Amino acid sequence: MKISVIGCGYLGAVHAACMASLGHEVVGVDVDERKAAALSRGEAPFFEPGLPELLTEAMATGRLSFTTDMSAVEGADVHFVCVGTPQKAGEYAADMTYVDSAFTELRPYLREGNVVAGKSTVPVGTAERLAAELEGSGAVLVWNPEFLREGFAVEDTLHPDRLVYGVAASEAGQRSVEVLDEVYATPISEGTPRLVTDYATAQLVKVAANSFLATKISFINAMAELCEATGADVTQLADAIGHDVRIGRRFLNAGLGFGGGCLPKDIRAFMARAGELGVDQALTFLREVDAINLRRRARMLDLARAELGGSVANRKVAVLGAAFKPNSDDIRDSPALDVAIQLGKESARVTLFDPEAMPNAKAKAPELGYADSIEDAVDGAELVLLLTEWKQFVEMDPKAIGELVDGRRILDGRNVLVPSEWRDAGWTYRALGRQ
Ligand code: NAD
Repeated sequence: MKISVIGCGYLGAVHAACMASLGHEVVGVDVDERKAAALSRGEAPFFEPGLPELLTEAMATGRLSFTTDMSAVEGADVHFVCVGTPQKAGEYAADMTYVDSAFTELRPYLREGNVVAGKSTVPVGTAERLAAELEGSGAVLVWNPEFLREGFAVEDTLHPDRLVYGVAASEAGQRSVEVLDEVYATPISEGTPRLVTDYATAQLVKVAANSFLATKISFINAMAELCEATGADVTQLADAIGHDVRIGRRFLNAGLGFGGGCLPKDIRAFMARAGELGVDQALTFLREVDAINLRRRARMLDLARAELGGSVANRKVAVLGAAFKPNSDDIRDSPALDVAIQLGKESARVTLFDPEAMPNAKAKAPELGYADSIEDAVDGAELVLLLTEWKQFVEMDPKAIGELVDGRRILDGRNVLVPSEWRDAGWTYRALGRQ
């Protein structure tokens, strides 16, 4: 099929490359000239495992191109809208300006029978409004939320857990199901469950899923607070409750909490939308989920101060991690970078290292010190903070690292190190939710 992808960020660039690898002819459009130029050279503008290889392969077939020129979408059968929906400055609600302008710019190029597939995460009610705006264009809207995880984005796009189509209750709506089935013929043939719903349900599925995941993380982090007050161990607690299949062990890792370009802003936008709908009470628990999550960052700073005798000022602190999670260079609402920035504000001499997120971190926090390796970062440090669980941090050798530091003190913000190994090597090891 001929496909256009509007907005080529973390979601759209991966979607475009994956659709081309499934055999479709794809044009990606982004307003960001730098991004479109990099993608046109077959270069991924951000770190995502597997994406560079996929881009190279797809570009070589001649089926994938990128541009800033919206007119290039003319002639496509399906247009995927993948632009950002960030949190509005000073408010909880989502900023819809990018979605609105993408639809306005796309409209002149729509043809009879086209399908416009919304993939951005939007407040419920958006699809209904946009479908009304498309009336008379000949195109039909389908809401097709995306569930990919950064770090596994290629795998998740090619082999999704499920496909959700929110469609219009009309003949055209029925046809849009057939069109998307053709787009996703390969994953569907592999047995991917496919659910057809109305618009409202499809939009809610996405924010409900993210709210559940955020709640699960904040639940175990709330338990971590109880563990800290009682001397219990949150990792053992998670293992024990996780054996109950109704609970499950995944997403029960206590630590510095969630961040990134989705979970925090999605739960806030969901609360804002519930307020507009007069059902804010249904989601007041999400306010607590958000508060628990942010308290973990404050707790990490408390531990850092305590380890250094009450203040971090003028003390050398090594920060390992800036990305909001491993295998990503995304620093949007990153707990790790947030803690590093706060340490800097308290006059700590921060030296930060992250395997992939350094350029983004430097652009956001140029005031911090940066190192080129773990060894450089910890050299002479009086305190080491592990804040993003990159594999190379998890696998650090406490003896070797111990030779470089100026004080064997480590705070494990992700509960990924083996405490006995560090203590045996002479370190003071502390973590969130454990003694
Ligand atoms: P992003 O900021 O990385 O990408 C958005 C892109 O859209 C940018 O490159 C921007 O330049 C471009 N853009 C903005 N206005 C445009 C326009 N009018 N025409 C063409 N391009 C335009 O954001 P993202 O992380 O890719 O997220 C996009 C959407 O997908 C959001 O709604 C997000 O919540 C949702 N989502 C993201 C993920 C994820 O893991 N990143 C997963 C699922 C859903």
